[in-house]
Amino acid sequence: MDRTMKTLKRFVLVGAPASGKGTQSSFLSEKYDLKPLSTGALLRAEVAAQSPLGLEAKKYMDAAQFVPDEVVNGIVAQWLGNNKDCGCLLDGYPRTVAQAKTLDANLEKMGLGVDIVVYLNVSPELIEARMLKRKACPKCGETTRNGEELCPKCGTPMIVRTDDNPEAFAKRRKDYETLTLPVVEHYRAQGKVVQIDVTEEGEPEVVSARIASAVAAYCQA
Ligand code: ADP
Repeated sequence: MDRTMKTLKRFVLVGAPASGKGTQSSFLSEKYDLKPLSTGALLRAEVAAQSPLGLEAKKYMDAAQFVPDEVVNGIVAQWLGNNKDCGCLLDGYPRTVAQAKTLDANLEKMGLGVDIVVYLNVSPELIEARMLKRKACPKCGETTRNGEELCPKCGTPMIVRTDDNPEAFAKRRKDYETLTLPVVEHYRAQGKVVQIDVTEEGEPEVVSARIASAVAAYCQA
């Protein structure tokens, strides 16, 4: 199969809550000139704006539950329809096998498909240590992991995410394992997964460099 960088236009990034997925999403979108869509950031922005969608989503997010598939599928389908011609990076979607099947079907209707899935496999011990240092910007959705007071992108005061307490986190972790890891297997069966194992704390740049080499190797495979 010819997998030159030109043909890699639709990336999916999968990683557990607090895996560093947001940071690597920024890296990937800059490096490969991709337009990112973070469903979590988009939903948080809707909640902050108190839109009808946000008010509906908040009920689920505050309870550390997934927002229903049909709600998220609708948002993403619309976004993909508006971004047919550019490179795209989906971050936080698909999060269930049902979402993955809907995504595949929607892309197929446009004559497109998922080109590569970057799976950030961070050990649970590392993730636990990171989790409470995480903050999010209620305005632009930027997340940070060092307890910053102001958003580095837009200067808005950062908030601790209401879904970042230990109980909620444990639930999100379990949902990730039971509902989202099967998404990786769904795409592994299609030969599209690039897996990056992270077991030690280190600079995000080191992980980014490993992702870049793995993507390059995937292109040459
Ligand atoms: P995390 O990866 O830490 O769970 P996200 O920012 O990706 O954080 O998502 C935050 C919350 O937004 C999720 O816990 C869930 O309630 C909701 N959400 C985001 N993406 C999806 C999705 N694809 N399907 C269902 N719910 C979603």
